[in-house]
Amino acid sequence: MALIVHKYGGTSMGSTERIRNVAKRVAKWVRAGHQLVVVPSAMSGETNRLLGLAKELSESPSARELDMIAATGEQVSSGLLAIALQAEGLESVSYAGWQVPIKTNSAFTKARIESIDDARVRADLDAGKVVVITGFQGVDPNGNVTTLGRGGSDTSAVAVAAALKAAECLIYTDVDGVYTTDPRVVPEARRMHSISFEEMLEMASLGSKVLQIRSVEFAGKYRVPLRVLSSFTPWDIPLDVEAKSGTLISFEEDEKMEQAVVSGIAFTRDEAKITVVGVPDTPGIAYQILGKVADANIDVDVIIQNVSHDGKTDFSFTVPRGDHARTMELLQSQVLPGLGAREVVGDTKICKVSIVGIGMRSHVGIASTMFKTLSDEGINIQMITTSEIKTSVVIDEKYLELAVRALHKAFGLDEVKA
Ligand code: ADP
Ligand code: ASP
Ligand code: MG
Repeated sequence: MALIVHKYGGTSMGSTERIRNVAKRVAKWVRAGHQLVVVPSAMSGETNRLLGLAKELSESPSARELDMIAATGEQVSSGLLAIALQAEGLESVSYAGWQVPIKTNSAFTKARIESIDDARVRADLDAGKVVVITGFQGVDPNGNVTTLGRGGSDTSAVAVAAALKAAECLIYTDVDGVYTTDPRVVPEARRMHSISFEEMLEMASLGSKVLQIRSVEFAGKYRVPLRVLSSFTPWDIPLDVEAKSGTLISFEEDEKMEQAVVSGIAFTRDEAKITVVGVPDTPGIAYQILGKVADANIDVDVIIQNVSHDGKTDFSFTVPRGDHARTMELLQSQVLPGLGAREVVGDTKICKVSIVGIGMRSHVGIASTMFKTLSDEGINIQMITTSEIKTSVVIDEKYLELAVRALHKAFGLDEVKA
């Protein structure tokens, strides 16, 4: 008998029919003798719908109220799942984040989990109940409802698994595992049987939405065994087959792991580029520009500063697309006047494409293969950034699919059709 945490994403919870299926699957695990905690997302489309209502009333709704609204999606799906489990003949109880409680800081819309009290959940499990806990939400020190950022139910599930020292955390979703890239963009993408924790961390941080980055961080910190698998297999497939399906996030770089130099390609449309043009090339410039941006709590990602001509240079960086307007405004009003720069130019039609692989550590020439592939497709690279196990480029958004497909092929990731 083991304590297992299941997480079901929005599509998997998308209708009462699908919720019934989830309940049947969970019942199968319980009847095999396991203790189950289930963390559902809101029904698909619901979080967008709720946030959309707020946007109808205000262009900049308060973050606290957004969390108050968005958190209801998971409350509904959790209650529905508990009912479906009861209808399957199981004892079940659902809790909102604040009832557990899952304690977070007060960073509304992107709160971080600080601690989870496991007493109530453990008592229910010991009493033979299936415990359903809302994904995506928690409660701050002042009793306010908080949410963990989009895709945050993954993080809830892994954090709950860590707090309960669960034997495994299974992330059930609408694809059957982690692929070499998003299979919706590249149909030739291959599912990986396992992926190293480090690579998963990079893939998630570079935009692969199959797991929220913080869930991977949590899994690493607390060594939570983590697997991504499909919720769309028939619920009654044998449990031992299901338990080995999908993709394992592995902490060991064992020989069995696919030893490709580049193991995956990630991309994101969530960034925007900002260029400060004609900046005097003197000490302290980066700080004058980015210091203000950081003070406004805006995350900066890729940064480049060009070689100066006649003592003037251009300084470019990317920010989350949602913060683009705010950053532009801030630079215009607070930075430009004191800086003696010519102007600030923004570009929201960019994307970032990244190749990831621990094999890149020991291989040279990988980045140049990337640049050649893009050049052969006539795609202009606007920015480049590298680390030990990844290379990212910023390009025009309209070339996203083309770039990802070309790179997928160039690095030998396309599935070989038998
Ligand atoms: P859920 O609602 O279950 O949390 P998400 O939509 O958040 O599901 O994440 C699953 C989606 O992630 C898939 O449908 C797929 O389009 C996307 N995705 C992006 N990159 C990858 C990848 N490398 N492997 C698998 N899926 C990926
Ligand atoms: N419902 C939330 C979202 O849509 C959390 C999640 O699905 O993980 O972002
Ligand atoms: Mg998700």
